[in-house]
Parts: sequence; C-alpha cells; structure tokens
Amino acid sequence: MTCCKNCEKILVLDEIAIYRRLICREAEEYLCKNCLAASLKVEVGEIDKKIEHFRSIGCTLFV
Ligand SMILES: [Zn+2]
Repeated sequence: MTCCKNCEKILVLDEIAIYRRLICREAEEYLCKNCLAASLKVEVGEIDKKIEHFRSIGCTLFV
C-alpha cells in the first residue's frame, strides 16, 4: 500500500500515475491528487482532467 508523502492518504493507481507523468517517472514516493494540485497551484479538477487526457491518449502509466 502506498501513501501520500505529504498527508498519508492511501493512493489510488491514477494518483501514482499522474505524479509519475507530471513530476518524475522514477519517483518512489508520491503525492495524492489534493497535495499534487496544491503543490502545482492548480485546482484538483485540473488533475482529474490531466488523468483523463493521458488515459485518452493511451499513456501506458494509466491502466
Ligand atoms: Zn496528500
């Protein structure tokens, strides 16, 4: 089980994938959507849109 390195929320696969896609492909610690959005200074909805976008283009990080 993988937790957010900031708030310790249990992460879902999409959160790990978007973190890898946006921040660091080799990352071994991740942020949840909320903390990632805060660190990028965007709305959480923007993160959801990016997840949908990368999934729609067939990014292999998103299963
Ligand atoms: Zn978090």
